Amino acid sequence: MVVGPFEIDLRAGKDYPGAWSEFRAWFPDDTACRRYLERLRWPEGFVCPACGCTKAWRASGDLWMCSGCSRRSSVTAGTILDKTRTPLTVWFAAAWHMTNQKLGVSALGLQRALGFKSEQTAWTMLHKLRRAMVRPDRDKLAGEVEVDETYVGGVTKGGKRGRGAEKKFIVAIAVELREPKGFGRVRLRHVPDVQASSLVPFVCDVVEPGSLIRTDGHPGYDTLPSQGYRREKLVLSASDTPAHVSMPAVHRVASLLKRWLLGTHQGSVHAEHLQSYLEEFTFRFNRRHSRQRGLLFYRLLQQAVGAPPVPYKDIVGGGQ
Ligand SMILES: [Zn+2]
Repeated sequence: MVVGPFEIDLRAGKDYPGAWSEFRAWFPDDTACRRYLERLRWPEGFVCPACGCTKAWRASGDLWMCSGCSRRSSVTAGTILDKTRTPLTVWFAAAWHMTNQKLGVSALGLQRALGFKSEQTAWTMLHKLRRAMVRPDRDKLAGEVEVDETYVGGVTKGGKRGRGAEKKFIVAIAVELREPKGFGRVRLRHVPDVQASSLVPFVCDVVEPGSLIRTDGHPGYDTLPSQGYRREKLVLSASDTPAHVSMPAVHRVASLLKRWLLGTHQGSVHAEHLQSYLEEFTFRFNRRHSRQRGLLFYRLLQQAVGAPPVPYKDIVGGGQ
């Protein structure tokens, strides 16, 4: 179970809505949404994004006026919600739908739920929110970690759906193992190939050195010991123990991931957006033991006001 700092103290009805009816009562308008974001972004009170000064007063509208540098800023300045023309109430509803359902929501599903004219609006919002699902300072996995690759289906750029357009993408998976049993956190990366040049940097980026890495016999992992990792190689012969028995964690995660991409997103994921979907899966998987779905809503918005803005062209281009 992943318990972030102070998470234990967060409660439905106090820190986040416990149900849709409560959600509606808490966030009737954009002012209410702003107040909530202010609480998430500045739990100790306003901090000027420009100079770090904490002395300020509320200027006209929703702006704060810093007494240090005289800059005006809003709670969404410098975040993914910056300069949005979509009302915050709609962003909040999107974040709620995205986190409140066990498997998330597709762009079409969100379009229907919120009554948008175009699926594109819903699609862009979901992609922006996915950007907020990655904490840049997130901890590395540690202890005993299973690492493997899997193939997921998707579509090529400009490709038609259906027969002939399908393409397989490679996803590297790392999962913490818990004693005496069970899985911890996961990290996923869309990699171009299964060469050491793709797999070893993935492990180095997401796992603490000194950890024990369990892999199959693939030579792509052979240089891990020179990077400060211990490696346990599981050599499987054709008649041997099946992979889902010897590498249960990565196989479980791979099958959940594939089911989610096929189920919620109909497998229609493009290469340039796959990493965003992997982040959403990771966000949800790593919080799968949260007692309350509202806690995911809280975390998502908290990270949204801690994350830098993403211009639309970057989302379309899939840039990082
Ligand atoms: Zn300032």
